[in-house]
Amino acid sequence: MTRLATVSPCYNEEEILERSAARLTELFDELVREKKISDDSVIVFVNDGSRDRTWEIITRLHSRNPRIRGINLAHNVGHQNAIMAGMMTAKDWADAVITLDADLQDDYRTCIPQMVDDFLSGNDIVYGVKVSRKADPLLKRMSAQAFYRLQEKMGVNSIFNHADFRLMSRRALEMLAGYKERNLYLRGLIPLLGLKSATVDDHISEREAGRSKYTLHKMLGLALDGITSFSVKPIYYVIYLGFVFLLISLGIGLYVIHAFVSHTEVAGWASLILSIWLVGAMLMISIGTVGLYIAKIYEEVKHRPLYNISQILD
Ligand code: UDP
Ligand code: MG
Repeated sequence: MTRLATVSPCYNEEEILERSAARLTELFDELVREKKISDDSVIVFVNDGSRDRTWEIITRLHSRNPRIRGINLAHNVGHQNAIMAGMMTAKDWADAVITLDADLQDDYRTCIPQMVDDFLSGNDIVYGVKVSRKADPLLKRMSAQAFYRLQEKMGVNSIFNHADFRLMSRRALEMLAGYKERNLYLRGLIPLLGLKSATVDDHISEREAGRSKYTLHKMLGLALDGITSFSVKPIYYVIYLGFVFLLISLGIGLYVIHAFVSHTEVAGWASLILSIWLVGAMLMISIGTVGLYIAKIYEEVKHRPLYNISQILD
């Protein structure tokens, strides 16, 4: 029988945490009764440095229900790192670990049993794939779709419309532990493990309480990591663009010589000022792109830990 663990990152989730815990407990009890998972399966909540009563609630839930465990991170390290902390801790507690957001927007009731089935039939990774994003606000839906497309163009190997709702076997997690990078983008990293995988359809619903904890700032950060952690194509595009601009300036050069020879060189400062701005912009984009990668190298070489755990309730 599979010993299952779910891992849910929580950042200021006091409004929804108790409800989510109750629902997961109910599902777990059902699956235990059906003998699909073993009775020592656990529900893990990772408190990602919340400033509200989240940890208090987790502590209380744990004291009432031994199935519920908590990991308290010393400070807010972001969704990806919080998931990593949860998975790396929970892999010693279970045969398979499912990560899902604490707000239970994913169709956990249908997907979790399917994921366990797929795991039992020999898959090391099972991806939850959003089949419709109707529940997401329009702007979020559009930006997410555009982002997945852009990623594809940039050659990042990720699963279309899969966020971080997935099952991983302990073997897969042990392998993932070997990837020591700091700029964590799990959706790009996990397909690189090369293990046998399956997908399940995930019909997401709306958030029932609390607001989205993914601020625009956090989303942009994730998007940038998603591309620059896996692809060096942006650097090449900048260089191609540089060549195009070189050609244009050659053309302008020819024109200048022609104007000089034919004595029609009426001082056109408009074109001059335009080129200065254009070239300036080009330089800034190029230097900025190179800078992005240098910043990554700088972050990676420090080998700092991804997270610090201050307390574990097990
Ligand atoms: N989250 C986190 N740390 C953060 C931001 C978010 O652990 O810095 C958690 C949050 O509590 C939730 C999950 O990540 O469980 C996804 O966040 P949310 O549901 O707000 O994002 P959305 O569904 O709007 O993309
Ligand atoms: Mg959500």
